Amino acid sequence: MSKNTRVPGYMQSKAARNARGIIGDREIRFKCSLQNTILDVLRGRPGWQEVPGPNFQQQNMQQNSRPAAGSQTSTQPPDGKGNKTGSTGTTPSNTQNSPATSGGKTGDGDWDFYWCDREWLHQNYDTMFLHEHQKILHFRNHYELTRKNLMVKNLKRLKKQTEREQGKSEGLSFDFHPTTYELPSEYHIFVEEFKRNPGITWIMKPAAKSQGKGIFLFRRLKDITDWKKGEYQPLTDTTREVPETYVVQRYIENPYLIGGRKFDIRIYVLVVSYNPLKVWLYRDGFARFSNTRFSLDSIEDAYVHLTNVSVQKNAPDYDPEKGCKWSTLRLRQYLSAKHGSEAVKKVFKGIDNIITKGLQSVQKIIINDKHCFEMYGYDILLDDDLKPWLIEINASPSLTASGKEDYELKFGLLNDLLNVLDLENRLTGKEKRIGGWDLLWDDGPVLADDGNMECTTNGTSVTTANSFLGCHNDRKRQLREIYTSAQAIKKT
Ligand code: ADP
Repeated sequence: MSKNTRVPGYMQSKAARNARGIIGDREIRFKCSLQNTILDVLRGRPGWQEVPGPNFQQQNMQQNSRPAAGSQTSTQPPDGKGNKTGSTGTTPSNTQNSPATSGGKTGDGDWDFYWCDREWLHQNYDTMFLHEHQKILHFRNHYELTRKNLMVKNLKRLKKQTEREQGKSEGLSFDFHPTTYELPSEYHIFVEEFKRNPGITWIMKPAAKSQGKGIFLFRRLKDITDWKKGEYQPLTDTTREVPETYVVQRYIENPYLIGGRKFDIRIYVLVVSYNPLKVWLYRDGFARFSNTRFSLDSIEDAYVHLTNVSVQKNAPDYDPEKGCKWSTLRLRQYLSAKHGSEAVKKVFKGIDNIITKGLQSVQKIIINDKHCFEMYGYDILLDDDLKPWLIEINASPSLTASGKEDYELKFGLLNDLLNVLDLENRLTGKEKRIGGWDLLWDDGPVLADDGNMECTTNGTSVTTANSFLGCHNDRKRQLREIYTSAQAIKKT
């Protein structure tokens, strides 16, 4: 039995009972595949109860080994070896039509909310029927945005379409990812580009790996031909049928440095619907610094060039007490002090543009499903002109805390994510801010409330976007306010 069997006050209130929330007036049953901060958050949430028992995946595989009938739309991701090199072009569908084989049951009781891992989803989704109220992490084909090769392909396609429909100048708003080619399929185009730009640095990355695995930098074509021989002619590796898909990308040689060190910014974005597109942006994120001073002389040194915490924590001089992170609040303050608030607003506006364009590039491809939500981790790098570049988008950003401050950030982030999903039905659905999440896009750009009018240089007032990345996050006070006001509205 869970510790959290207490029915919270808000569920016992008359208003809540009358409102007949998404779940109703019983406890909310959850499952969680992870053993980190998200599990703490779920276990600590009043009125939520953990569904115990064996993993559904095993049961489902035993009971249901046949493939889903009529399941033309495979939601299996392209495998790590890159068998599938392009977008599926799948049309959006409502998965209410999925074969009703499992009933969203775990074998030991239903769940209302499942923080599942991607592998579980890929193995089970095609054979699963979800009830009206159930919520599950990940859209089925999330990899369209989170595979490095597919992300770039989708962005390039939307850019072309935008240029066709709105003119070349509009297409410029897509120039935020470094020139990228997929290997092996675009090897010859890459070689032409390589020859046109002698002396520059390139970075090779496996399309489907993370945490800096398999990444290397190079300047000579010979380096890649040596790698190519090893990768593409695996004489000894009989398990590998096809070469692994890589992306080769122009390396950003002029990153913005603080204290001589390179960093990238991790930003959290929540999508609750793709059709219409509804996007929330979390105020807190962090900059991840490399431990060693930046230099282009040592391109083989991962500790200089890769800012992943999983890489940096193995650096010989890594100090776990100090860590290698700055909050986005601290970063924003630093940049404002150094470059002024106008320059900083431009940086953050550029980041908003990256967030929305990224999502729009897959809006018609992602299989929209009202049961699904996704919390993305965007990785953004600034260059020394303060231009933000999109490095990649993660569907499973790390929720393991690297220290106390990091734990607090992730705990608040995830708790507020549950507040946005509002399975308890405590809010009105019209909120533009919930805790640390601000509604950035709701079938169009969301503007901040009138109180946030901003004066332009020519003296006129403009309303700004409802975007507050790196701004103060007084989430607890804000939550108290919106819950009080929602309760008052629901009573009337
Ligand atoms: P992974 O999924 O393995 O983390 P990323 O694409 O996020 O791969 O790259 C890992 C790190 O390498 C990034 O955090 C960043 O510091 C660095 N990096 C990646 N691509 C580039 C690039 N084009 N220019 C400069 N640095 C890059």
